Amino acid sequence: MIYRRVALIGLGLIAGSMGLRMRRDDLAQEIVGTARSAETRSVAVELGLCDRVVDTPEAAVADADLVVLCVPVGAMADVARRIGPHLAPGATVTDVGSVKREVVAAVAPHLPDGVDFVPAHPVAGTEHSGPRSGFAELFENRWCLLTPERPADPAVARLTRLWRALGSNVEVMDADHHDLVLAVTSHAPHLIAYTMVGVADDLRRVTDSEVIKYSAAGFRDFTRIAASDPVMWRDVFLNNRDATLEILGRFTEELFALQRAIRTGDGEMLHDYFTRTRAIRRGIIEAGQDTDAPDFGRSKSDREGVA
Ligand code: NAP
Repeated sequence: MIYRRVALIGLGLIAGSMGLRMRRDDLAQEIVGTARSAETRSVAVELGLCDRVVDTPEAAVADADLVVLCVPVGAMADVARRIGPHLAPGATVTDVGSVKREVVAAVAPHLPDGVDFVPAHPVAGTEHSGPRSGFAELFENRWCLLTPERPADPAVARLTRLWRALGSNVEVMDADHHDLVLAVTSHAPHLIAYTMVGVADDLRRVTDSEVIKYSAAGFRDFTRIAASDPVMWRDVFLNNRDATLEILGRFTEELFALQRAIRTGDGEMLHDYFTRTRAIRRGIIEAGQDTDAPDFGRSKSDREGVA
């Protein structure tokens, strides 16, 4: 047992996966969960995502020594404002949001003295959402990035133990650095996928469904990523604006360079470029981050969309 009572606020993919794993491996004495809608709460009871499901965040955090905010980034401030007065002295509050600097700014002001805040981001996910999408192995061999203000606090060491027990590797970094790294590895690629699918959708009207009918691997991968939850991704872009725009600016410059190479027939440039990008893919495979190693009963593509 790492915690006595864990409160999960929001019961979707991430919280559901945490709850299932914590229950399976006895990582907490009791897991109390809550979600906004009665329907999600009732599915959570049906699937046993927590030991106990209550109606409100205020009730969920009562006497909890760990509170995990698992709602979309744009909803964090409101939830923090509600739970602030009800937190137990000495409790740790953490979150799983895909953006860190704005979440810290939204949550920290609502927490009373004597409560530790350790922001976290499990870099693990799928394009599925909601309480039925969780599974206990989601975090296996993935990274969980912590961005605490005081890395040496005992609360950080304890949360690190939890994430390791959930199957993750843990790294501590600065919140701004986190947001820039994730803009490169996740946020900008998602926006590009959304754009490509949008372009193809326009084209579909012209070509009478040929885009769907002859869908090739590249486009199929884009459609899977572009199927990710619209609320979550809206909030990611609105809350990681600077870093995403910085990366998209660089992306546009590279795109122009490739466009010029195609127009001028510069095969050498294209070949060199693709050779360099292929090496990056090899590096990801060697680091074991191309997919989860074991097959958890889901297709490989099901497990690859990560925020
Ligand atoms: P999810 O499956 O869509 O679940 C979201 C949960 O938050 C649901 O229980 C939902 O309640 C609740 N919720 C939504 N809007 C709310 C609001 N305005 N106020 C209060 N509760 C609200 O989402 P998820 O994929 O688990 O993501 C949760 C967090 O993890 C997000 O901050 C996201 O950035 C982060 N994250 C996601 C991934 C990923 O790949 N999905 C990976 C890493 C981190 P109802 O069901 O009742 O509507």
